[in-house]
Amino acid sequence: PTANEDKPVQELKKRKKIGVMTSGGDAPGMNPAVRAVVRAAIYHDCDVFAVYEGYEGLVKGGDLLRQMDWNDVRSYLSLGGTAIGTARCAEFREREGRLSAAANMIRNGIDALIVCGGDGSLTGADLFRSDWPSLVQELVDNKTFSPQEVAPYKHLTIVGLVGSIDNDMACTDSTIGAYSSLERITEMVDYIDATATSHSRAFVVEVMGRHCGWLGLMSGLSTGADYIFIPERPPKAGEWHQELKNICSRHKAKGKRRTIVIVAEGAIDDQLNAISADQVKDVLVELGLDTRITTLGHVQRGGTAVASDRLLATLQGVDAVKAVLENTPDTPLPMIGVLENKIVRQPLMEAVRLTKSVATAIESKDFDKAMQLRDSTFAEAYDNYLTTALQDDGLLALPEDKRLNIGIVHVGASSAGLNSCTRAAALYCLSKGHRCYAIHNGFSGLISEGKLCELDWLDVEDWHNKGGSEIGTNRSLPLENFGKVAYHLQKHALDGLILIGGFEAFTALNELNENRANYPVFEIPMVMIPATVSNNVPGTEYSLGSDTCLNQLVNYCDAVQQSASSSRRRVFVVEVQGGHSGFVASYCGLITGAIATYTPESKINLKTIQEDISLLYDVFANDRGEDHNGKLIVRNEQASSVYSTELIADIIKESAKGRFETRTAIPGHVQQGYTPSSMDRVNAVRFAVRSIQFIEERTSSTGSGASAVVLGVQGAQLQFSDINELYTKEANVGLRKGKTVHWESLREVGDMLSGRLMLREKR
Ligand code: ATP
Repeated sequence: PTANEDKPVQELKKRKKIGVMTSGGDAPGMNPAVRAVVRAAIYHDCDVFAVYEGYEGLVKGGDLLRQMDWNDVRSYLSLGGTAIGTARCAEFREREGRLSAAANMIRNGIDALIVCGGDGSLTGADLFRSDWPSLVQELVDNKTFSPQEVAPYKHLTIVGLVGSIDNDMACTDSTIGAYSSLERITEMVDYIDATATSHSRAFVVEVMGRHCGWLGLMSGLSTGADYIFIPERPPKAGEWHQELKNICSRHKAKGKRRTIVIVAEGAIDDQLNAISADQVKDVLVELGLDTRITTLGHVQRGGTAVASDRLLATLQGVDAVKAVLENTPDTPLPMIGVLENKIVRQPLMEAVRLTKSVATAIESKDFDKAMQLRDSTFAEAYDNYLTTALQDDGLLALPEDKRLNIGIVHVGASSAGLNSCTRAAALYCLSKGHRCYAIHNGFSGLISEGKLCELDWLDVEDWHNKGGSEIGTNRSLPLENFGKVAYHLQKHALDGLILIGGFEAFTALNELNENRANYPVFEIPMVMIPATVSNNVPGTEYSLGSDTCLNQLVNYCDAVQQSASSSRRRVFVVEVQGGHSGFVASYCGLITGAIATYTPESKINLKTIQEDISLLYDVFANDRGEDHNGKLIVRNEQASSVYSTELIADIIKESAKGRFETRTAIPGHVQQGYTPSSMDRVNAVRFAVRSIQFIEERTSSTGSGASAVVLGVQGAQLQFSDINELYTKEANVGLRKGKTVHWESLREVGDMLSGRLMLREKR
């Protein structure tokens, strides 16, 4: 996401006392949200208080309300759960409890509260705000405060952040913690996969989501599950037993050894009867499968937040502080959300009302409405699940004359997501009766061997969690021998071609497109799917594999920082990939709390290095014994031809004069990751299905428009862009990236939260 840039920072400055709390169930990312609120509040000259233990902290006051300083939230980015505690507080539901909460806030001078929690917590916050004037009056009437004392506290400002692993809140595409939870589920099912395959067993995996099937659906996609039970799309009562048996036995008959069925906690049938993991197990046992149940339980809340949650929590925390400062008594209570990849403010109670209406729609068996009320991609994801997992029964197969031959080629460096995407494309093709051909070893393989293999269901079925490229990839381009490329495409009578890769795939598509006049076979529809850790392909804000890369970097940087804990004072200059694009560095710098981020877009010079050395002096001077974690400087590999990673480390070392040590840390190819992240897997399916649908549409009699395109994400929407337009107008071919830099705001927020901006302004 990008930051909300509506208001210039300077306009917002006025002193304020803000409380921040986490409430309801804990979610990974709550700590990064608190860190962002604390530091953004201090940056904007506010005092900020942590309210410990959720609403209990407000009701009890005393030590549970503590003023925070800049250093109190060090290391919060990498901490799972919530360090300031959370609780379910019955007293706050009563007026007496809220009266006590109001008194404690006034005692501490706090009249603004940022609440990070689920719909219950935010409903409580709304009630508190509407009660506030009468609570204050009561505190005067019962002589707790004089009228003069309460005079500055006429209005209570509340801003909501949605922290919930369920992703069940309306008016936002994602809640803080949802993707971390999805990642945990996916990792756990990967482990189960291995044992299930070894023993040819079936596993029923119960995942969280009492009223929301987001985790169930997305984990079904990311784990290649045979069947899912989610509340928004319940199966028919009395029929699902047989349907489940049919699907699982069909998959078995095709040669699949493991069977995975995902059951959301809130699973029901269409008559609202609960469906339990035990019932599902019984059906599989009847089928003769050796079946076990795994209830993932609290594992799903555990651990550190994934990269995307750290980013979301950080940007939303910063915007929550801005929202407090911009609030007027007439502003509807805002909830910070994310729509179309942009941080937005939504009317909180409308979001809560819509969220509750999903449960009402389900209770009244209006499941279509429940689907519509979910975020913009939910229904599409469900359709993708159906076509790639369940509809392999031939019922969707097109008549012979409508069936297509579709080729897939991987181009460029390997990245996570290539196999997941190829798998989904092949499964979708098979469901429609198309033939899907894997072109082995890129364009050079095509030119030298002409090896195209038709992919079978069982060939690809278990590629959902395989990193690398099963069909082989390299950097060769069609230019090496257009004639041979044309010959082999013609020989296999391909009707469409999908190129998956980074800037090389982009270049390859352009070469094919430019040579259409010479080789008519290149007239077939061709789609390029961006898949590269660098995320440097023009026409998209996201590439498959980039999320995996960022998760790798988060883990790497957490470990590097921790290696310098206890007595060591160390600075690490971490060199990250990205070529001439600063996306990975900017994103990584922000979510690892780097002191500075050096990108190709922001030139490094002696002055910037000097500035950062001063900041390091400051940081280490204020460092308290217990949190000597290492400090990071993130440098993109191409940030400067002069100031190499080594040189920067040496300059810092020389200037440190013994105050701290300096090291370099270069993760290199680790950044490609081993298995793709859950987000990359889910998007791989989305990209694959849409690409084949594009080819279907362009080969139909009604299809028109550009037919050599790049599939990209703009906001939350998928978009096809004509390669000719992109190549000539959007691409910086020399630097192998797009002309649009969509990550600059990340670096600015990073500078605010590292203290760099304050230091610069002080001078
Ligand atoms: P999760 O999504 O994890 O369930 P949640 O925020 O919805 O999170 P709840 O247990 O519903 O979790 O609410 C957390 C706390 O918020 C409650 O313990 C209570 O203190 C307060 N709260 C919830 N609903 C209300 C309400 N209607 N009125 C006053 N306070 C409430």
